[in-house]
Amino acid sequence: MVHKYGPHIFHTDNERVWEYLNQFTTFMPYTNRVKTTSGGKVYSLPINLLTINQFFGKAMSPDEARAFIESQADMSISNPETFEEQALRFVGPDLYEAFFKGYTQKQWGCSPTQLPASILKRLPLRFNYDDNYFFHKYQGMPVDGYTAIVEGILDCPNVSVTLNHDFEKSQGKGYDHVFYSGPLDGYFGYSEGRLGYRTLDFKEIRGDGDYQGCAVMNYGDESVAHTRIAEHKYFSPWEAHEKTVCFAEYSRACEEGDIPYYPIRLTEEQALLKHYVDIASKASNVTFMGRLGTYRYLDMDVTIAEALSAADQALALIAKKEPIPPFFTQPL
Ligand SMILES: Cc1cc2nc3c(=O)[nH]c(=O)nc-3n(C[C@H](O)[C@H](O)[C@H](O)COP(=O)(O)OP(=O)(O)OC[C@H]3O[C@@H](n4cnc5c(N)ncnc54)[C@H](O)[C@@H]3O)c2cc1C
Repeated sequence: MVHKYGPHIFHTDNERVWEYLNQFTTFMPYTNRVKTTSGGKVYSLPINLLTINQFFGKAMSPDEARAFIESQADMSISNPETFEEQALRFVGPDLYEAFFKGYTQKQWGCSPTQLPASILKRLPLRFNYDDNYFFHKYQGMPVDGYTAIVEGILDCPNVSVTLNHDFEKSQGKGYDHVFYSGPLDGYFGYSEGRLGYRTLDFKEIRGDGDYQGCAVMNYGDESVAHTRIAEHKYFSPWEAHEKTVCFAEYSRACEEGDIPYYPIRLTEEQALLKHYVDIASKASNVTFMGRLGTYRYLDMDVTIAEALSAADQALALIAKKEPIPPFFTQPL
């Protein structure tokens, strides 16, 4: 029940995905409520009315808080281009410094002035006391963990599994078609260069009792090197444990041999991605899928929805004896 590749909470609005996964597990009710430490104090995330009132030492109503935040926002920025400008325009300098600046700098390894405004699309504030991190209709944790789900999916007479084996293009030769969910650039031997990712280092913390009293604690200050700490027993609140295991996450540039976690997708990477998409579009008998195959950040439910849809489309094409395309979802 310890999430080896970082904490994973399942959440979706997609009925088909929810029903599909429920064949393989029972989801236990779980609501993700994140906290953040900033300037030596603890607040609730996403920034909600409790966060705003605590941070400014006030007791504002929703309308008062809305008007107050508008008075903080930098309205002189009419057309925000960078993440920093967008945040200053939405929330003003104080909340930006406390909750966005340091965290973003650590997560992406560059200044928020170098990131596009599009990363912060909507107003990232709530003017009520809702601290549920996700908006989706379904949210939960699989009672026996994610491995049991994957085992259930693979437990099918038509599926054979080879583990601990690096896929190479030549292996596809024995098959009519390959659905490839490894890295797009890796499939082509990184011939055009490596698509940029951030990777994570996890520092394990073990102890007795409770370490932090919640599942996820973010750290907004730049002076604290980790971005967050996850205390894994809080992801399965139906279990009781006297001891505890946590992981602090440190974000850095992904080098050769590291696990690629977050695609960077800035201007430079988009240009390289375009090269790979051009090459891939000419390939036959292979379809690139998933987060690595399409170089996108995808939540689990989106990945599964895309895979189910790709299967529908591929089966229909096979029935018509038509070729299966390299992409069902375009990476660009
Ligand atoms: C830190 C973190 C936290 C996340 N938290 C959440 C969350 O809370 N909720 C949520 O919905 N989503 C979350 N996600 C997203 C989730 O991890 C992805 O949606 C999911 O992993 C995508 O599945 P995938 O099959 O496309 O890719 P992956 O799960 O990465 O699977 C690709 C597989 O291919 C293997 N592979 C790569 N290259 C080769 C090769 N050459 N040969 C053989 N095998 C290869 C890899 O080892 C890997 O097992 C999180 C992601 C990260 C990075």
